[in-house]
Amino acid sequence: MEIFEKLHPECIGLFCFDQSSNHQALPPDALVVRKLTLKDKMSKETIKPGYFELDGRRFIQDISYPEGHAKYGWQKGMRTILQERHLSRDDLPRLCKKKAAEINPCEPTKCCAAHLLSQQPDFCSQQSRLEIAVRSRGHLF
Ligand SMILES: [Zn+2]
Repeated sequence: MEIFEKLHPECIGLFCFDQSSNHQALPPDALVVRKLTLKDKMSKETIKPGYFELDGRRFIQDISYPEGHAKYGWQKGMRTILQERHLSRDDLPRLCKKKAAEINPCEPTKCCAAHLLSQQPDFCSQQSRLEIAVRSRGHLF
């Protein structure tokens, strides 16, 4: 990108990549369901806050309990995250036997906590490290 920007200072680049797993690497604080357990757990890993909308308002949701909270050092489980979004039932299993390809991202599912949460807009829109790097410099990915 630096070479492109030097050669074409007035241009916006369109960067295209194949589907290599390296190109899909996520940032360490990524919002990804596979990092989460069903119940809250102690964790040194920090996950960035998510967001959700309820009654037309947008709420920011901490996934890792913030400093000063009684559960600081803990990470919310999927059950807590879904309850705060008013989406949960206590009987939802962590993960059902459906494969990711069987889940329609446009059709709400309630088969399990993992699939329900993975369809939420903040989890759906998690960008790869590469996409973040390209877009943060004003280019197209
Ligand atoms: Zn499921």
